[in-house]
Amino acid sequence: MKIDLRSDTVTKPTPEMLHAMMSANVGDDVYKEDPTVNELEKRIANMFGKEKALFFPSGSMANQAAIKLHTQPGEQLIADQYAHVYNYEGGGVSFNSGVSCKLINGHRGMITAAQVEVSINPPDFYHSPLTSLVCIENTTNKGGGACYDFEEIIKIGNVCKDHDLGYHLDGARLWNALVAKGESAQQYGDVFDTISVCLSKGLGAPVGSVLIGDEDIMENAIRVRKVLGGGMRQVGYLAAAGLYALEHHITRLKEDHRKAKEIGRVLEQLSFVKHVEPIDTNIIIFTIEGNEEEFISQMASKNVHFYGMGQGKLRFVTHLGYTDDMHSVFLELLSSKKLDKVI
Ligand SMILES: *Cc1c(COP(=O)(O)O)cnc(C)c1O
Repeated sequence: MKIDLRSDTVTKPTPEMLHAMMSANVGDDVYKEDPTVNELEKRIANMFGKEKALFFPSGSMANQAAIKLHTQPGEQLIADQYAHVYNYEGGGVSFNSGVSCKLINGHRGMITAAQVEVSINPPDFYHSPLTSLVCIENTTNKGGGACYDFEEIIKIGNVCKDHDLGYHLDGARLWNALVAKGESAQQYGDVFDTISVCLSKGLGAPVGSVLIGDEDIMENAIRVRKVLGGGMRQVGYLAAAGLYALEHHITRLKEDHRKAKEIGRVLEQLSFVKHVEPIDTNIIIFTIEGNEEEFISQMASKNVHFYGMGQGKLRFVTHLGYTDDMHSVFLELLSSKKLDKVI
């Protein structure tokens, strides 16, 4: 039994999702004639209480398009130092939009309104780049699946309003936050100008992200998507997977969260585990005594796969494809004395 805890992106469509995909009604989405894509976009826009939503082939492209919509070349955005837009989108912020990043040293990938306030360059000080956008992530990826306190999200939103800054949410794992905190999509729609959500992480669709916003900011989104090469034709087959996932795979995320917490509790008992970060959702970050690479390859030889994140941090991610059976096998392996000896 192969246990793959590298990421929640490794999921494959369930037979039911595949069935929904195969029976999708499709058309040319570049002409906006794909009824399934149109339905997905409408459904997601409604969930968030926004006027428009646009389907993208990846979360990176949705974020990059949002940054382009909010900024002009030479300007600056504010984000946490762990931000996906800064670390994991290939330098797209500068390549696509000619924008620099002011990075904040936040807590588990989360920043505060006070930190944002002092990071804004005064607009009349023409020596510095003009600050025009704040990007936050919920849940945080590199921050270990941490969820923001919604009050802080509102406070950051107020700072953005006061200083006339755009406010973008990288919500690749927003579904996890909604389930963990009992929040609604509408709440988020009320606060942010733009939101990207991912269908291919926790929700288990093979491909797809959606960018959401009101008409004014989204007016140019379809052109930017075209420029980035993201206009797709009969893509309703993929949108159908997203629609299926919205219906059937959101509430089950609590199972991933439960399993993550159970793994965390076992890790804390192990003599060679130094520290386990708090577990809010489906990501477990921990450090060990001894050599991480050795631990990773030892576990791989036992058919358990995961990544190191640098700086001695190791990560497990639970997901739709990590079954109850795998969970029992994995917990047993982790707590076996054999493993303790290996390390
Ligand atoms: C995965 C992820 C994305 C988008 O990634 P793609 O692989 O381009 O779909 C964006 N932001 C965060 C925080 C992510 O974890």
